[in-house]
Amino acid sequence: DDKALAELVAGHVVDVPDFPQPGILFKDITPLFGDGPAFRQAIDAIVDHHGRDSFDVVAGVEARGFLMAGAIGYATGAGVLPVRKAGKLPREVHAASYALEYGEATLEVHIDALKPGQRVLVVDDVLATGGTAEATLSLVEQAGGMVAGFSVLIELAFLHGRDRLAPREVHALLTV
Ligand code: AMP
Repeated sequence: DDKALAELVAGHVVDVPDFPQPGILFKDITPLFGDGPAFRQAIDAIVDHHGRDSFDVVAGVEARGFLMAGAIGYATGAGVLPVRKAGKLPREVHAASYALEYGEATLEVHIDALKPGQRVLVVDDVLATGGTAEATLSLVEQAGGMVAGFSVLIELAFLHGRDRLAPREVHALLTV
């Protein structure tokens, strides 16, 4: 159930104070990726929540989101869309920029990454301010797709990232 899943994630995350900069409590989820049965349970829970038939493609945000998207794509047969940091993709791209604590960042996808109307499940490890997820939403729509929903392992609810994604569905295995 939901409580057991939240405990599963909570039991496989390490809180790292002041990383990558002072004042940030970094949620290090690598222990979850490193525990095979726990990782599989988390991936299966995300797929079960949305339902296999609700999406055609799963988009993962570089870099930790890639691991989740690859696993979900393999488990379901959905395609995988890597949402990359600026300058990594070799062909023409759609780009979306968003604000970070200091400065800004840009994410990109190839212009032909999606077929018209494809439904995309967007996944990442942590939802914080929602800037990353909102930029990914923009990229999916620029590429002609639609976002079927968002899933993260951990939502930092006090940053209200989900408000920027409304009315789309935001699912978190663990909310803190
Ligand atoms: P945001 O755009 O503010 O929602 O930040 C989300 C992105 O930054 C995700 O790709 C996360 O991996 C990363 N991130 C932001 N805050 C944290 C945190 N406290 N711990 C771990 N990762 C974080």
